[in-house]
Amino acid sequence: MVHRPDHWVAWLPHRTRTLLFSVVFLPLPLALIAASPAGQDSPTVCEQCVTAETFLTQKLAIWQKRLKLEDWDIGLKLVHPNELKPKTLGNIHWDSDKKRANIKVLSPLDFKLAFPEALKDMEFTVVHELIHLQLSSLPRNEASRSAEEKAVNTLTDALLSLDRKDSDAK
Ligand SMILES: [Zn+2]
Repeated sequence: MVHRPDHWVAWLPHRTRTLLFSVVFLPLPLALIAASPAGQDSPTVCEQCVTAETFLTQKLAIWQKRLKLEDWDIGLKLVHPNELKPKTLGNIHWDSDKKRANIKVLSPLDFKLAFPEALKDMEFTVVHELIHLQLSSLPRNEASRSAEEKAVNTLTDALLSLDRKDSDAK
């Protein structure tokens, strides 16, 4: 049985990473599929990447609009754990002057959850990182990081639970 760390625990270390303002734009998402070990005998795994990417691209557009971040050019990339800090599920780097940001989300191939659950978690990551972006104009320091992380998680939980309640009602 694999224990999955609680979000609050999982997200804390990545805050340090979030404050790195250098933005490195890497060639976008399809590279992952090309580089994935899915290859010849497991097309369904590769399909999960395509499905996840389509799903997250749609969600990114929706949440970007809801969070009034439409003036940002935001890229999304599915990555393997070696591109993330240990025990984190994603990160965001931004360049405030250029209004560009790049969100990295752990690939579904590396999740230990069932695919539908992994998708929900990946959406959480996208919303979480967008909230960091919304807060990026605020002053911050070492002491505020962990408080911001908790606040961002609380807001993400609240927004997603409202959103998912709405979809269930329909
Ligand atoms: Zn965070």
